[in-house]
Amino acid sequence: MSTNIKFAVLPGDGIGPEVMKVALEVLDVVAKKFDFTMDYKWADVGGAAIDNHGKALPESTVELCRCSDAILFGSIGGPKWESLPPNEQPERAALLPLRKIFQLFANVRPGLLYAEIADASPLRRERIPNGIDIVCIRELTGGIYFGQPKSTVTLENGEKQAIDTMVYKTSEIERIAQVAIDTARGRGRKVCSVDKANVLETSVLWRKTVADYFKKNAPDIALTNLYVDNAAMQLVRDPNQFDVLFTENMFGDILSDEMSVVCGSLGMMASASLGLGVNSHGLRFGLYEPAGGSAPDIAGKGIANPCAQILSAALMLRHSFGMEEAASAIEKAVKAAVTGGTRTGDIAFGGASVGTREMAEAIVAKL
Ligand code: NAD
Repeated sequence: MSTNIKFAVLPGDGIGPEVMKVALEVLDVVAKKFDFTMDYKWADVGGAAIDNHGKALPESTVELCRCSDAILFGSIGGPKWESLPPNEQPERAALLPLRKIFQLFANVRPGLLYAEIADASPLRRERIPNGIDIVCIRELTGGIYFGQPKSTVTLENGEKQAIDTMVYKTSEIERIAQVAIDTARGRGRKVCSVDKANVLETSVLWRKTVADYFKKNAPDIALTNLYVDNAAMQLVRDPNQFDVLFTENMFGDILSDEMSVVCGSLGMMASASLGLGVNSHGLRFGLYEPAGGSAPDIAGKGIANPCAQILSAALMLRHSFGMEEAASAIEKAVKAAVTGGTRTGDIAFGGASVGTREMAEAIVAKL
């Protein structure tokens, strides 16, 4: 009997629904080829959910996710909802709660640039003759984005004061350290842990906890440390010096975006946010989404690059459903299509050569 996979489809806003549609078409072809069936339902999230249900993350959407083994997510937000109060805006009111509800503590973002299209990177080709192949592991549910107190108060003299709090516990650092170790074991066995231990208490704890954990659990992995300011610099100087770049929430937010730009195109960057929970396949529950946003400037034009969404679907097959063969078939097909000359006209690739649908068709042809 063929395996059935059950996941929630949350396309979101802007280009989200456009790239989601073609990603599902690619999945359909892969399902037939690798003999599995799919059971997925769509639900609103972000701006679309505000318009249709009055809030960015309706209970019905959360319920669908709870009944699923993974979430395939598009992207959310756009100018239409930017004037809402900050805590009602799509990203803050949908993505952060989803991370919290499903304890999505580990963000895994591959930074991959094929050698054949190294010119898509803002770096000179001689710095990256073989393209780029690194992974960023970012802690996703702790640190300054979630720490309390978090508030804006008016002082006695009438001046405003805002407070964010950066908090980390040993257990939170250890569980993400294990994800970095597991990732490094499937690659070059090198982890660079990034912190700001010369200034921040949380970073002092981070560095010590990581060192102790690796010593005890991963003597086979080469661990190095960098301060975040140096890491930001090294990432543009020589990205391939890294194998697994590993860091806390806010530093990871910034460094992983820097990595995406260095790797050429946001439209190519997939990501997996893995949860603590185990799904009905005995694997990690996860949320899989493109690294970019909803690209309102090109939404509705049929020119968005769907590769990031398609590659996110491949990550879902790998991490939440254990379908390594099907996942790598998608990754190889994307690589073959893109390096074979089929590209959409996103920021890195210059003028449009093909639209979203033609790109997806080129990928299907390579499967
Ligand atoms: P963005 O990533 O949406 O767009 C930045 C640039 O990259 C734009 O020029 C866009 O056209 C281009 N781009 C992004 N993805 C592309 C693709 N697949 N194909 C071709 N070009 C692509 O970032 P932004 O403009 O800063 O944000 C737009 C909206 O998205 C905002 O509301 C923001 O809050 C939201 N956002 C959402 C997420 C998310 O859902 N996880 C992440 C980032 C930003």
